[in-house]
Amino acid sequence: MKIERVETAYYRLPLEPMGDAGHGAIDTEELITLELHAEGLTGHGYAYTIGRGGRAVRSLIDNDIVPLILGRDATNIRGLWDLMWQRLLYVGRGGLASFSIAAVDVALWDLYGVREGKPLYALLGAGAREIPAYGSGVDLPKPLRALLAQTEGFLERGLPGIKVKVGRVDPRDDEERLEAVRRLIGEDIDLMVDANMAWNTEEALERGRRLERFDPYWYEEPTIPEDVAAHARISREMDVPVAVGESLHSPHEFRRYVDEKAAGVLQIDPITNGGITASLEALKMADGAGLSTSSHYTDELSAHLLCASKEPVYLEKHAFALDPYLEEPQLVTNGRVRPSESPGTGLRFDTQALAPYRNA
Ligand SMILES: [Mg+2]
Repeated sequence: MKIERVETAYYRLPLEPMGDAGHGAIDTEELITLELHAEGLTGHGYAYTIGRGGRAVRSLIDNDIVPLILGRDATNIRGLWDLMWQRLLYVGRGGLASFSIAAVDVALWDLYGVREGKPLYALLGAGAREIPAYGSGVDLPKPLRALLAQTEGFLERGLPGIKVKVGRVDPRDDEERLEAVRRLIGEDIDLMVDANMAWNTEEALERGRRLERFDPYWYEEPTIPEDVAAHARISREMDVPVAVGESLHSPHEFRRYVDEKAAGVLQIDPITNGGITASLEALKMADGAGLSTSSHYTDELSAHLLCASKEPVYLEKHAFALDPYLEEPQLVTNGRVRPSESPGTGLRFDTQALAPYRNA
């Protein structure tokens, strides 16, 4: 099944201004869509960023990856992933290269599903299952009243878990916010906290311990992703499981976290991780080590992938929902989501809705 043509497009989607302790203010999502054509069929893929780097991702795809894969067999997904990884190795081993590889890899899996007439979860050897979903705000700058209004919105949607950003300059601010959210949601709703890599190891331990009285479900990205030893120490010294994954850009990076017992929850993001192929590897590592799994953003793809995991605790319903730009937005029913039953990923962008945001 020869790859005949690949087309990309670049969009800048405005977001309600938001932010976190690691990435700062965020007001734009970049979306790079990709169509891969082979023997009359089309696979759809995409990559996203939180406002910067998207043009470089698209350029890597158009200038470096497409010439590499044209004419090759689209059904050899693993072989193509290895080829892309290897030929971009000198400038890659993660980062933008992983986002670029991901866009193509998602399209290849989608095409495979379209050809077989099967949804992605079935291609992964899994059965469809319901996964609990949690509401996730990018809410560090939000005043307390707005944070509570957002939390109420999550509760009204029936979500059994809620995540709050931490990492305000004054630790008492974080505590006041978590105390108010915990009071609002009660004891039966899970409360995740996310520091977005804001702290060094000592601060992460100190700040994390101050938050333990609010019974957090997990402690996400307490420090920089490069410092695996720090995550291992935080995991050892705290009762709350450490959650990581969105900033890991290859299976190799996940491997270090698993081998060094540096996390209790692996959060996959098939775009930042380097594709469905790479995220699947991370899920298998989690299974092998008895770790819990969750997702980051990528709601639609992750609903399939988590079906292939032994212990999927939660799917993240992220603040940047692509719902306004999708033909079939994901439904949350009784606080749970299911993967699409359409062939492939089931993720199709509504090009008319996207059209006003297209950039050259
Ligand atoms: Mg996060």
